[in-house]
Amino acid sequence: MPFKIAIASGKGGTGKTTFAVNLFRYLSQSMPGKVQLVDCDVEEPNDHIFFPEAQFEKLEKVYRLVPEIDQSKCTYCRKCVEYCEFNAIVVIPTVRFAEVNSSLCHSCGACIVACEDDAINEKPEEIGTIRRGFLPSGGRISGGTLKIGSSMQTMMIRELKKAVSGEAPITIFDAPPGTSCPVVAAIADADLIILVSEPTPFGMYDLKLSIDLLRELRKPFGVLINKSGLGTDELHNYLLNQGIELIGSIPFSRAYAGMYASGNLFNDIPEEVAFAFSEILHKLHDRILQHEGDHHSER
Ligand code: SF4
Ligand code: SF4
Repeated sequence: MPFKIAIASGKGGTGKTTFAVNLFRYLSQSMPGKVQLVDCDVEEPNDHIFFPEAQFEKLEKVYRLVPEIDQSKCTYCRKCVEYCEFNAIVVIPTVRFAEVNSSLCHSCGACIVACEDDAINEKPEEIGTIRRGFLPSGGRISGGTLKIGSSMQTMMIRELKKAVSGEAPITIFDAPPGTSCPVVAAIADADLIILVSEPTPFGMYDLKLSIDLLRELRKPFGVLINKSGLGTDELHNYLLNQGIELIGSIPFSRAYAGMYASGNLFNDIPEEVAFAFSEILHKLHDRILQHEGDHHSER
């Protein structure tokens, strides 16, 4: 039974990527050949930077279909304009003008259904690339990169997830920060979502938005407090009062923050950070084993 964990955060800079790559490294060593990391932060993919030993296959281009109006067939009836929820089509009958604004178009296809004059064709447009690879020590690593200027994050994440689906029984999704549609696309099928937060007023504010979203989506989640010791106990108390699972706490370390900046997260980890990681990673490892055990006993 596949198990999918999504690592998410209400804002950038909380340590989401640090945790995702550490979890991947740990699980790919303790469960060789069974784990994949999927970098869904398609606007700023950087998980692969921490694995210089990873070997990548050829980049795969991702396309979407964008409608194009054939003016020789268009009767300027404006039905397509009425169907387009995204205001991506302009039709001005008096001057015989009809055009699709591709940057507003979401490729939903509604205008094609609406047009009774067969005046709309679709043309492919590149929205980004997918890179897939593996670590020599075991574990698959993949990610998407959105093309500069494209606003198709959500579609890019869906295509990435489709491309890597089934590549390993355990998947870690590194979700983009925030609470908008791309985040929902990244976490939608996760069995467990780990929200990474920091104990500061900004961190708490964004965490609460993420919690609201996950509760609305009815997704199972827990919170990992990063940079613990930086702020107050307010976050701990909040989780306790709300009955939200605390996955663990990683103490703030200036030295470890510097290691992130230099792209080195796995060597010479400060002792207190290594100890905290080890506890949390063991706990999650046991949870995955339990999930596998539960599945086998159900069969
Ligand atoms: S629905 Fe078709 S015919 Fe009517 S304005 Fe749009 S493209 Fe032209
Ligand atoms: S495909 Fe959808 S979003 Fe794009 S122009 Fe047509 S109706 Fe609008």
